[in-house]
Parts: sequence; C-alpha cells; structure tokens
Amino acid sequence: MSKIIISAAIRGAIVIVDRVEKKVNEAIEKFGADKAVAFPNTGYYLPTIYAILGTPVKTLGDMKPVLEECRKLLPNVPQEGLWLPYLGAGLDAGMAALWAFDIEEAIKYVEDTPYLLAEDCTEEQLWLGAADDIIMRKRGVEFVDGSAPGFAAIVGAAPDNATAVKLAKELQEKNLYVFIASNENGISFAEQLREEGVQLGWNTRLVPFGKDTSAAIHALGFANRAALAFGGVEPGDYDRILKYNKNRIFAFVLALGEVSDEQYAAAAGVINWGFPTIATSDIPQILPTGVCTYEHVVSNVPYDKLVEKAIEVRGLKIQITDVPVPVAYGPAFEGERIKKESMHVELAGPKAPGFELVRMKESDEVHDGLFEVIGPDLADIEAGTRLPLAIEVEVSGRKMQSDFEPILERQIHHLLNGAEGVLHIGQRDIIWMRISKKAKGADFSLKHFGAIIHAKFHSEYGAILDKVQVRIYTEQEKVEQLLGEAREVYAARDSRLKDLTDDAVDLFYSCTLCQSFAPTHVCVISPERPGLCGAYNWLDGKAAFEITPTGPNQPIEKGNTIEEVKGQWDGINSFIYSASGNQIEKFNAYSMMEDPMTSCGCFEAIAVLLPMANGIMVVDRDFAGMTPCGMQFSTLAGSVGGGLQTPGFVGISKLYVASKKFISADGGLARLTWLPKHLKEFLKDHIIARAEEEGLDDFINKIATEEDCETEEEVMEFMAKVSHPALTMDPMF
Ligand code: SF4
Ligand code: ZN
Repeated sequence: MSKIIISAAIRGAIVIVDRVEKKVNEAIEKFGADKAVAFPNTGYYLPTIYAILGTPVKTLGDMKPVLEECRKLLPNVPQEGLWLPYLGAGLDAGMAALWAFDIEEAIKYVEDTPYLLAEDCTEEQLWLGAADDIIMRKRGVEFVDGSAPGFAAIVGAAPDNATAVKLAKELQEKNLYVFIASNENGISFAEQLREEGVQLGWNTRLVPFGKDTSAAIHALGFANRAALAFGGVEPGDYDRILKYNKNRIFAFVLALGEVSDEQYAAAAGVINWGFPTIATSDIPQILPTGVCTYEHVVSNVPYDKLVEKAIEVRGLKIQITDVPVPVAYGPAFEGERIKKESMHVELAGPKAPGFELVRMKESDEVHDGLFEVIGPDLADIEAGTRLPLAIEVEVSGRKMQSDFEPILERQIHHLLNGAEGVLHIGQRDIIWMRISKKAKGADFSLKHFGAIIHAKFHSEYGAILDKVQVRIYTEQEKVEQLLGEAREVYAARDSRLKDLTDDAVDLFYSCTLCQSFAPTHVCVISPERPGLCGAYNWLDGKAAFEITPTGPNQPIEKGNTIEEVKGQWDGINSFIYSASGNQIEKFNAYSMMEDPMTSCGCFEAIAVLLPMANGIMVVDRDFAGMTPCGMQFSTLAGSVGGGLQTPGFVGISKLYVASKKFISADGGLARLTWLPKHLKEFLKDHIIARAEEEGLDDFINKIATEEDCETEEEVMEFMAKVSHPALTMDPMF
C-alpha cells in the first residue's frame, strides 16, 4: 500500500472517529449512557462491531469501549492477533472507520427513525437504512442459492443521470444487488436514479441506504449478518468472518467521482473483508493481490468499463443467457410494479380467463423455436385493454418426463417477470399479467413470451429437453375452450401427487446446495417433506438430478429400516455421514426431539418445543415479534442454523406443517399449539383438512396466535380453555 493511500485512509479515519466520539458524548449527555440503541428488528446489535469484536453494543454507554478499540487501531501499529497482512496500517485505520460508522448510524435511530422501515422506497422517502432481519434473510437466501451472485456498493454520484441509469441497469442485468450510499457534492447516485423515474428498493435490487458516507456501513452490516445467519460463524471470530466474506460474498465497491478521505478510509476498511474498490477517478491504485482475491483498488476506470472491470477484479462468476427481447432482462426486474396508469394491457386476472400450461409431446409434434400469437397482440389494441390469455408451452426431449411438466411450468412466473415492463402473478389458472406502455413502446410483443421461455428453458433445462414451442392465445372463445382441458391436466397431476408418499418410494433426494454456507448441512427431501427453504420438493430433486447428475441433488437409497416410526434408514444415515463431512451420524426424518434434521440458515420457519405445554410452536421468518418460547425468529435462527442438529428445534418449510409426516414420531399435528396469525391464515385450509384426517375436533381454533398469548404460561392457559389435545398426550420428551 503506497504511502499516499495509508495517509489518506488514516486521515479519513481520524476525522471519522473524532466526529463520532463527539456525537456519542453528546448523545450520552442528552439521553444517558443507559439509553438503548439498535437497528430496528435486527438481532445482531451493531453488526460490523458484533461480527468482528463479538461485542454486543446495546446502549449508548457500550459505544465508549468500542471507540477505545478504534483509537488503538488508529496509530500505525498493527494490533497483535488481528488478521492483518502486509497492508497493515491502512487496513487498521479503515477497520476503525467502519466501527465508527456503525456507531454513527446507530445514533441516528436513537431519537426516532430517520429512515423508511420498508422494503421499497416511496415517492416521499428514498433512504431505507439498515435492512431488518426479515429482509436480510429473504435476500440472503438469494446469495446462498446463487440467484444473486453478489453486490456492488456504490458511493458518490455519476457525472449525469443518464450514466447513472445505464450503470444501474447494467448491474441489474448481471443480477447483482446495488447498495447505494454517500454522495458527491450533495448529489447521490440514488437521487439521480429517482429523478429518472427508476424504481428503487429491495424488490428491484437497487437499495438506497443513506446519503451520508456512514450509511455505506449497512452494506457491510448485511454481509456480516449473512455470515452469522447462514454460515454459523460465531460473533467475534473475526478470522472466519473475514475469510467467509472473502470466499462467499461477492461484493465490491464502485467509487464514483472524486474520492474523499472518508470514502478512502472506508474503502481501505472493506479490503479486510476481501471487497475491492473500483474507482472512476485517478486515485492511487493498490494492485498487488493478497487480502482480496485479486487487486485491491483499481482506479481511473471509464464508466462503460466499470462493471466489466469490477467483475473481473472480484473474480465473479456470472452466467447470463442472452434473451432476445427489446427490453432489459434479469431477476432484478422481477420485483418491479406496474401501476394502472402505466400499463398498456392487462392479461387474464380476476376479470378475464387465463392459464399457463407446460406439456410434454413427442419430438415430431414440437417445432423448436416456434412462437405463435393467436388473437390480438399488443400493437393491435388500445392502451388500457384487458385480454384473456393462454400460454401453452410444448416441449420434447429424450430425458423429459411428465413429472417435470409442473417444474418447468413453475418457472414461467419468474422467467416472464424478469423482463422489464412485464408483470406476472400466480400460476396455473390464476395467472394475472400486465405489460407497461414503455415495454410496448420498445416494440415488445406477446411473441417475446415465447422468446423468453424458449431461451431460458434451453439454457437451464437443456439436459432434459431438446425442443420448445410456445403458443399464446388471446381470443376469449379459444382460451375458454383450452382452459377446460388445462384443468383436467392440473387435476390429474394433483391426484398423482397424493399417491406419492414416503412409504411408496425407495429413493429420497439430497440437497446440499446450502453447504456453500453451512458446510455440514444436508436436506433430505422425501415426497412428504420438502427442503426446509420451501423451494425444493422431491420431484424437483428428481428433475435436478436428471439435469445435473453431479449436482447438489442426489438420489439416496433408503436401504434397511432402522427405526420405522422415527423414520431412520441405514442408507440415508450413511449418505448423511459422508455428505456432512463425517459430522452427522444419524437422522430421524419424523422426529424433532431425537436426531432431527440439521438446519442451515434459510428455513422458512422453525418448529420449537414448548416443554411445559407438552407441545410445539412454529414461527416463520416474516414474524418479527416475540414468541412464546421467549425468543424472536432471528434469535432462534441464530441458535439453530449453521448445519447443526438441535433436538427440540428444527428448521422447516411452512407447508411441511400440513404433511402427514410432520413430526409424526413426536405426536404430529396435534402437538401444534401456537402460530403467528398470518401463518395460521396461510395454512388454514391445509390444517383443517389434516385435522379432519387425524380426527382432531375443531383443531384450527385450538391453535393460539400472538393475539391470544405471548408467553408459554399464557399458551398453557389457552390450551386449558380450548381443551387442546396435547394436554392429554404422552410427554414429548
Ligand atoms: Fe438449502 Fe435445503 Fe433448500 Fe437445498 S433444499 S437450498 S439444502 S434449504
Ligand atoms: Zn439453506
């Protein structure tokens, strides 16, 4: 690291630490040292400090010792024990600056929240501040499963709005998240985008944290919390935190315009995490590799080369299929909304018939690349029209099976949504679509639905299919006629799924996708138990194995039965043992009390034993409140995740609650005493149907929610009042 850089970073860090210290003292004077501090609805305190130092800052007073740590790092003396290679002093100063930023941002929340507590920006409020844990988990999963390859943290501003829009779109098309903070001479990148009418927020992956440079800490906070939540890394284990981020979170900084000393200090700081900085201005470069995977600071990069350079420097692997459509395309556009005023056409939905269907055909019946529109297309109708819609996709291939039809069909939702200006909701015969005037103005046509489905099916499912043809119908009569036939297909599929039970098959499927984050975790997916993230069922596993025979989904022979009721087989045990790196010896599919399945970090919900109630509660990640076990979801997730078996706790998919095999060895559904209200509503029909099968009378009304009770004692009172079946069952342990 050159002398200039060291001095710029240290200069910046000293200014920051001095300023923050002053702010802390003022805040203590005003509110007292015991005043609580937190980022709302998060369980990781001030996460950058917590991750590296292990210190939970809970009050203003707790900030003082951290500032002392900052001071220790400011002189040019590397502290003993810290993971510090040769870049030494600059990295230390940068680390101090980042801790100070964490504190500075937390102080903003002390009086009242300066940021919008929401997923998406509104017209009045642009800045979102720290993501809450619900957002962090939901989005963090995308980093786990690879649907987001990484994130770009942007500081400063582009030379003009058009350049800003172009850069943002380029990053979105690479599926990257864009975390925005800071400004250059009072202008910020996020404001430039908003002036041009770009939708901002988590749903379009363009996330404005705050206008101060300190707000950039929320990007790092997100990365650190992901490491703690999904990687099972202990707070304070700085060595693993830093390496984990370097190896698994593909992030980089884009510094636009002039780089201030403060921004330089932050850039030096994030090198500790392996995140390089790519700058447009002529700042000193730090080229030798060592801490980051490749170079650390690369400067003087022209705007049109910025993204390309960043991807190269960070060593990102990005797969893109060229989708031949006249609008931008990528998952970042999936979260886009289309309001009535900006829509050219509405297709299907509540007021017009519609459906989508994928069918397998003989090879000679499918003409690959044929896209037909039967009925009026976008150019034939006036803005504001409503049309019926049938999307009929026919595929053939030697390895294609009819079991894969619903899997392919389910992709249509996100594939079409990925086009800018196209909105798709629902599946089967409850689809609802909108297309924007802007897309129509760019010559988008309904034929492009075919182009998208054709291109993506070939690129992602080429191993099972050879040919794809797509017909789009928008004539009322024809759609109605085809709808009847489609419903017969759906009904046949559903009845086939009913017959597909754990006992009826010899093979289960593994999923080890999450091992990139939780190295000992193995999901065992059976017909009656989906993966705990809720995204993969047994048929998905089967299809995925056909598509990628050496991938994360492998067939597992059940083998000999060891425990019939608990669901233990020797074939499954030996698979898990080797797939977990010899960490997990045995596993009971149907018990959460004895050798339950491991949990990674991305489960939709957690089932938790309530020992006094002789039952269980289930809480999902959308519920931020306190639960009767005395812990919030985020705290529970922190102690259950990371690839461990934790008797009494198990990460599950939401729908698994309605499975016949749901903790069947521990008493099954009858053990359920508490659910968050919205989850109870979501599962209502399933629970009613299952309770009937089990002969449980009026069971749905015997499940308490947060409206009935907060503590386990209150759950027990509630149970007594409604005569809950668990009261008379055998002790759970
Ligand atoms: Fe991760 Fe399990 Fe989901 Fe696979 S099925 S992605 S291992 S949670
Ligand atoms: Zn996972």
